[in-house]
Amino acid sequence: MLNGKTAVITGASRGIGKAVALKLAREGANIVINYRNSGEKANSLMTEVQALGVKAIAVQANIGVWKEAEALISRAKEEFGTVDVLVNNAGMTKDGLIMRMSEEDFDQVIEINLKGIFNCCRFAVPIMLKQRSGRIINMTSVVGLLGNAGQVNYAAAKAGIIGLTKSLAKEAGSRGVTVNAVAPGFIDTDMTAVLAEKVKETIKESIVLKKFGTPENVADAVHFLASAGGEYITGQVISVDGGMAF
Ligand code: NAP
Repeated sequence: MLNGKTAVITGASRGIGKAVALKLAREGANIVINYRNSGEKANSLMTEVQALGVKAIAVQANIGVWKEAEALISRAKEEFGTVDVLVNNAGMTKDGLIMRMSEEDFDQVIEINLKGIFNCCRFAVPIMLKQRSGRIINMTSVVGLLGNAGQVNYAAAKAGIIGLTKSLAKEAGSRGVTVNAVAPGFIDTDMTAVLAEKVKETIKESIVLKKFGTPENVADAVHFLASAGGEYITGQVISVDGGMAF
């Protein structure tokens, strides 16, 4: 159980982040729901989480912006007194073959997916080191492990997250802070809904379990790493991909 713990989940208004917020709330954690554009969805999730008997706030912040990430983590600390779990989930794509990819599309994907995690860790880690406990879970991707044509920006960010995770695990471990990454495969969310049916069928064929994952599948792995069961796990990348990458 995570009773009385504070969990900050970035990009929690939809998809995987929303499933993580609900899972950790059911396990007793107070939840900070971060969002960027989907205010209505974040507020309705806040009500849903509160109905589970825990506290919740929704905080708008573009985690790619240093000052906004700082404000998000400060708000969590002010409201609940601690930051015990940080789930760096927010992410976006701007796909295209390198021949057609603009500098802006590359920079934006790195800024949100990779620098956003650095920003949130930068402000949460001092709090966790001081309290001598904390769990950080970073959302990478099967694409960060295998690469993917049309996603050099996203793959670079997601592979970068793995390096960040392992380095921070080594920095923070002696003070009781674990840092791990979760690498989802193909999960049914808005992010993957945009793909053509034909592309989806080809991907499904490449999955050992022959089906797409759910946001709840990923939330279960995040919960495990945040819970007592994850106490002795750090610096790892846990794949939740139905067997896409091994
Ligand atoms: P999604 O349905 O597109 O949701 C993305 C979430 O991230 C939204 O809540 C969005 O908030 C938030 N977000 C985006 N940019 C943000 C920013 N700058 N600041 C704060 N929040 C921001 O995506 P998803 O499929 O749930 O993916 C969640 C994570 O899992 C991502 O890191 C993604 O790369 C990773 N992942 C997904 C899959 C998959 O198959 N779906 C596979 C591997 C990895 P607003 O709507 O409020 O703007």
